[in-house]
Amino acid sequence: MIERTLAMIKPDAVKKHAIGDIVSRYEKAGLHPVAVRMMQLAKPIAEGFYAVHKTRPFFDSLTTFMSSGPVVILVLEGEDTITRHRALMGATDPAKADKGTIRAAHGTNIEYNAVHGSDSADTAAFEIGFFFPQMDLPRPA
Ligand code: ADP
Ligand code: MG
Repeated sequence: MIERTLAMIKPDAVKKHAIGDIVSRYEKAGLHPVAVRMMQLAKPIAEGFYAVHKTRPFFDSLTTFMSSGPVVILVLEGEDTITRHRALMGATDPAKADKGTIRAAHGTNIEYNAVHGSDSADTAAFEIGFFFPQMDLPRPA
């Protein structure tokens, strides 16, 4: 099924000048960018985006990190994109991420892990709407 997911290149990867490499990986994998924004998240915006994690012990640190510098936010479209994008990203902890994944290449630790990706269709719908409220609905299957 053709579907869309929300990808984010986090402040650590932007600071390392890895935007080009990461977008190239999306394109080579057939995860086609259909919308892009670059911006610095205010802390309350990062808190809203990660609201699902608000009771976790790392919430304050995570949202401070996510608002520490510019990010690149993309909507990616393609066949089975949510699952294929998560596989391309690798495990949350870069030390456990498979070789060849984005987090293995660019992540530093479990928090500074270079990229974000929606983990389900419901999450993708929330996250796409959060940053691209004007976006058309996904194409029907
Ligand atoms: P993922 O981004 O792989 O979906 P989670 O949704 O579990 O992972 O966590 C969201 C983000 O919170 C992670 O990408 C990472 O930046 C940060 N994070 C997750 N677990 C930890 C942790 N134990 N300590 C610090 N930061 C964490
Ligand atoms: Mg997650």
